[in-house]
Amino acid sequence: MSVTNGNHEPFREMLPAYALDALDPEEIPMLEAHLDTCPECRAALKQYRAVSDGLLLALPPKSPPPRVRARLIARLASSRAPSASAGRPTRPLWQVGFGFVLVALLLLNLALAIQVRSLQSQQALLTQQLQANQSALAVVAYPGGRTLSLTGTRAAGTLILNPEMNTAALFAWGLDPLDPAHTYQVWLIQPDGHRLSGGLFRPEPGQPFVSHVIASPRPFSEFTGLGVTIEPSGGSPAPTGPRVLGTQF
Ligand SMILES: [Zn+2]
Repeated sequence: MSVTNGNHEPFREMLPAYALDALDPEEIPMLEAHLDTCPECRAALKQYRAVSDGLLLALPPKSPPPRVRARLIARLASSRAPSASAGRPTRPLWQVGFGFVLVALLLLNLALAIQVRSLQSQQALLTQQLQANQSALAVVAYPGGRTLSLTGTRAAGTLILNPEMNTAALFAWGLDPLDPAHTYQVWLIQPDGHRLSGGLFRPEPGQPFVSHVIASPRPFSEFTGLGVTIEPSGGSPAPTGPRVLGTQF
């Protein structure tokens, strides 16, 4: 038996509330029986569920979505008139409107949550950059620092280090921007030729230079030089990509 729009529409309007577990319990068996036979309503339900699941995932951890939801449902319940319906169920106009309002609220919340998240990650990135620059300045200002030129085919830079210390500041100009799948990796060269990782960095878009603080496991006097290569995002245990900068100590 095919479903016509006439007896299909009432179920459509129950879907937003059903997706939020806010449907009247007595309406659930009727809707679920219809869902079993109607792929269109199942598809629509899937979309509503995606919105409500996405909202819960996207919200910052401090927000209490279940409490907000409970309050919304409670307010709705208090404004609802008791229905003494018999026979074929019809959807009161306010309930039809509620479906749209609910979806609009969900979308608005989702948009706000995404905005908050983007601002949070921007702030974290700026804080990270500020800390890196402050550490680099501290290394530069430390007495007895040595300044070495970093040379490469396209890029150039400066390395400031104190041979007795384990921290150095690297400044590089002219490094190509990288796609998200790649990173620059610093290598400390041991006398036996082995390379130890000196950390990862990537230029920020629109920045003419990049600064990176190298934290070495041992004093720099125990290494013979330094190199920078392009590696897959997350770094490599040993250099695999092209060398773009380097120097001898
Ligand atoms: Zn249907």
